[in-house]
Amino acid sequence: MEPDALVPALAQRLGPEAVITDEARLAPYLEERRGLFHGRCRAVIRPASTEEVAESVRLCAAAGISIVPQGGNTGHCGGAAPDAGGGQVILSLERLDRIRAVDPVGHTLVAEAGCILADVQRAAAESDRLFPLSYAAEGQCRIGGNLATNAGGMNVLRYGNARDLVLGVEVVLADGRIWDGLRALRKDNSGYDLKDLFIGAEGTLGIITAAVLRLFPRPRHHATALVGLDGPETTLELLALLRAETGDALSAFEIMARRPVEFALRHGAGCVEPFEQQWPWYVLLDVTSSRRRDDLPGLLEAALARSAGIARDYRVAAEATDRERLWALRNAIPGAQKHEGASIKHDISVPLPAIPEFLARATAAVERRLPGVRPCPFGHVGDGNIHFNLSQPPGMDADEFLGRWDEFNRLVHDIVAELDGSFAAEHGVGQLKPAEVARLKSPVEQDLMRWIKRALDPEDRLNPGKVVPPGD
Ligand code: FAD
Repeated sequence: MEPDALVPALAQRLGPEAVITDEARLAPYLEERRGLFHGRCRAVIRPASTEEVAESVRLCAAAGISIVPQGGNTGHCGGAAPDAGGGQVILSLERLDRIRAVDPVGHTLVAEAGCILADVQRAAAESDRLFPLSYAAEGQCRIGGNLATNAGGMNVLRYGNARDLVLGVEVVLADGRIWDGLRALRKDNSGYDLKDLFIGAEGTLGIITAAVLRLFPRPRHHATALVGLDGPETTLELLALLRAETGDALSAFEIMARRPVEFALRHGAGCVEPFEQQWPWYVLLDVTSSRRRDDLPGLLEAALARSAGIARDYRVAAEATDRERLWALRNAIPGAQKHEGASIKHDISVPLPAIPEFLARATAAVERRLPGVRPCPFGHVGDGNIHFNLSQPPGMDADEFLGRWDEFNRLVHDIVAELDGSFAAEHGVGQLKPAEVARLKSPVEQDLMRWIKRALDPEDRLNPGKVVPPGD
């Protein structure tokens, strides 16, 4: 098929409502949310079923056109943005948005890839169950995108990443065949675990169309604490202590340095200075319990009181509005940072004991390289994951600062590599970081990635140029 015959063929097979070519309607699909990546495309295809996804892939293959899968387009690395050439198509999963089944006894739910994460959480809650994946974009991101990026969020400490929440997947392969791997099995050692190839592959190996997700007993009790601390070392001591004192109840453990807290206080709605005294570091933590009777605020108060000076000050909240008030500080940080000018982002992880060394070395290195730069570390420290964001020095030209993105990435990622960490902890690689894959992953790892890509997508039709660095 000639490339120009593709759009009419798609419209004929899937119906005209499934194909967008109008410039104004294309616009929201073309720009990545942070505004870092803008692309062009031939069309956006919106199939409404797995069979229509498969048909679309077969037609694109026949026309020699490559496909960019897209969910909620909330990704941070440009994985869902097409290239600048205008020849690719975006395949949006937004019309595959049915919850196919909920099984409260088996604690599973089958969702199509285009379901919004918040709708999956709601469907689980209606069956008195919990789907624990949760974070700020849950009203926009879609479950297929969550699996394709192996999303993390607030509850990884207790429930794991997206990968840990999946029992089976349904995938359309690069040749248009459908792999029905929708098995609700907790035990299946009957060969390679193929689903794990597609989870975290950012749409480079196949298009996820549905998944069997794991559900959990719904928490009946919640408590939140905000703690003021002297430093990252005592943060880790607090984490160990609370894990010992609260058993498996600890579900979120977030760190914030004083500077991002100040940004939130300055620019965030509903943010108030939490303690009389300012502390260099803060931890925000959640404990939850599904037991009928539990006294989580009492448990937290007792543990923090016994923390022998580790917690320099703390507040415990049990009521939903009080807990939300404490979380307002953490949730306001990403938005507040925008009011402070341009920022260069790092989404890193290191083994937990290396967190203090990473923060000390990375802060010293960036301040030495650019006096006046303002590091704003915060993030899921319970998972070893820090968003080591840098705000520009006040008064510096924003474009000049952003022009040094790669230079600062290299500086910070080299320290991460020396500490045996990852330069892409939860947001993935997309088109932002393939060069770092080439620079920092071992030749053996890179070869394995290329071989898998070549085996599953020999024509390089699925999200070319993303994740896997070019090679022989
Ligand atoms: P998209 O952005 O549409 O796509 C992401 C990647 O997945 C692309 O490479 C795309 O090609 C591929 N893809 C999408 N759907 C499919 C599919 N069905 N099959 C195959 N490939 C597919 N992420 C976290 O991990 N933790 C956080 O705490 C977090 N916080 C965030 C907060 C905000 C305010 C925002 C805007 C984003 C945040 N993110 C976070 C990043 C983002 O929400 C996640 O990466 C999310 O999983 C992306 O889902 P999506 O549906 O928007 O996917």
